Amino acid sequence: MEISASSKRKIPFFVLIAAAGHGSRLGGSTPKQYRKINGKAILRHTLDMFLSCADLQMLCVIIDPQHRSLYDDAVQGLSLAPPIEGSDSRKSSIYNGLKYFSNLDNKDIILTHDAARPFVSQENIIDLVKSAYEHQAATLAIPVTDTQRYKKRDYIDRHDLWSIQTPQAFHYGLLRKAHEQADSKTLYNDDTSLVAAIGHDIEFVPGSRMNIKITTQDDLMLAHKLMPPESETRTGFGYDVHAFEEGDSVKLCGIDIPHHKKLKGHSDADAGLHALTDALLGTIGAGDIGSHFPPTDPRWKNADSTLFLQKALALVKEKGGRLVHLDLTLICEEPKIAPYRDSMQMRVAQICGLTFDRVGLKATTTEKLGFLGRGEGIAAQAVASVCFSSHKDQRC
Ligand code: MG
Repeated sequence: MEISASSKRKIPFFVLIAAAGHGSRLGGSTPKQYRKINGKAILRHTLDMFLSCADLQMLCVIIDPQHRSLYDDAVQGLSLAPPIEGSDSRKSSIYNGLKYFSNLDNKDIILTHDAARPFVSQENIIDLVKSAYEHQAATLAIPVTDTQRYKKRDYIDRHDLWSIQTPQAFHYGLLRKAHEQADSKTLYNDDTSLVAAIGHDIEFVPGSRMNIKITTQDDLMLAHKLMPPESETRTGFGYDVHAFEEGDSVKLCGIDIPHHKKLKGHSDADAGLHALTDALLGTIGAGDIGSHFPPTDPRWKNADSTLFLQKALALVKEKGGRLVHLDLTLICEEPKIAPYRDSMQMRVAQICGLTFDRVGLKATTTEKLGFLGRGEGIAAQAVASVCFSSHKDQRC
């Protein structure tokens, strides 16, 4: 694959992910690459990072066929090439992958990476690819900082010691040649060992201590702490209308507003709180206010609508949601909302446990048009924003 002079900063690359191991040092019945963090397999976290790289051309995963159902579950929703069958050693598994990519040119850049390193950063990947493009063979590596010694022998000068990480990157032709010329009796820990064995230098690219390889239970615990919670914000919409009838005050957003009419309804007919309740229910797909508090149920006769809003808040919390913002618009010709706006905003904030600035409260008219314009009732529109975190112990 040719790299044009004008696009020297954009270097296309291919990736092989080694995921055929059994992770016996971690223990447990599920291989470590399929253990879950924040509800996603470790392999999936790794894949998501590579798939977010703009210059990635193709990525293939090498798996043990016995793990096929775990793999299918982990990559659900991704559009990937079929997995490559692994072998009895990392070296032969990677070689199977190299054969799969046999249509590549010798100078194409191919990366090899361990599935159990989900914390590699996009910046490190880009630096590594650039280095491999220039030097033919490169690896992420970090200098050793702990004092090193053999258990029953001398200390080792750590100043020239480096921990080798993955990904590692190579010109395709060089890596394939190294695999094909490797001594079959020698145990090679990684691909840089193979390339070094045929006399080629390896360029070190500074990696990160965050790029841990999950090997032991301690590593897995650390990975749980390092992985940022994934969160999503959902928006729910609510709308309500109540007509006027004879009365002496209107209940809106929990506040009594003196007026020569009241709102007609089975409960206190607080259209503002009803719209907010429906907006909240909308964020968790939990039906509407009528399905939770039917107007035919005598328990809700003249009920304070604060109860409805509190129930919706509890349901959202049960689902792991955190309300972050509400916005409400009241639509009517009368009564005038402005004198009561701050009180209503304060009351909604108080019911929902929000700060004043996380509640929007506005009023408008319909310029005398329609049933609202004729002063026949009040309408309310509401939007609720709720944040959900995938990590049970962490809030979004
Ligand atoms: Mg209503």
